[in-house]
Amino acid sequence: MKTAIRKAVTGLLVITGLVFFLDRGCVFYHLTGVPCPGCGITRAYLAAMRLDFVTAFRMHPLWPVTVPVLMWAFWKKGSFFADRRKNMIFTGILVVVYIGVYLIRMWVLFPDTPPMQFDAGALIPSVYQKLREII
Ligand SMILES: [Zn+2]
Repeated sequence: MKTAIRKAVTGLLVITGLVFFLDRGCVFYHLTGVPCPGCGITRAYLAAMRLDFVTAFRMHPLWPVTVPVLMWAFWKKGSFFADRRKNMIFTGILVVVYIGVYLIRMWVLFPDTPPMQFDAGALIPSVYQKLREII
């Protein structure tokens, strides 16, 4: 039991540290200019830490689920359940929910509303624009 509490506290500290110190933005977003399915999750957690839950849900509706699921996956070394079939069903449901929420967010918010904004200054759109000017 003591080990489980120690693991939980360590996991929370690691995740909190990641939220604060690795908030450099999304690599996919800086490369493509298009938000990824996880874009907004850091801003959601930062808003939740300020007890601004409206902004947290606006930044990423799945914020309350993401960290517990990641911690569970980390703890169980990638397997949520001992039964392989249950594990595949649960993982499939997670993938469908995250992609579904992403598609809805892209449909409703892209390209003007944070966190689903298009960045024309990202690497690929910038290179594309330069090539269009040349050709
Ligand atoms: Zn992203």
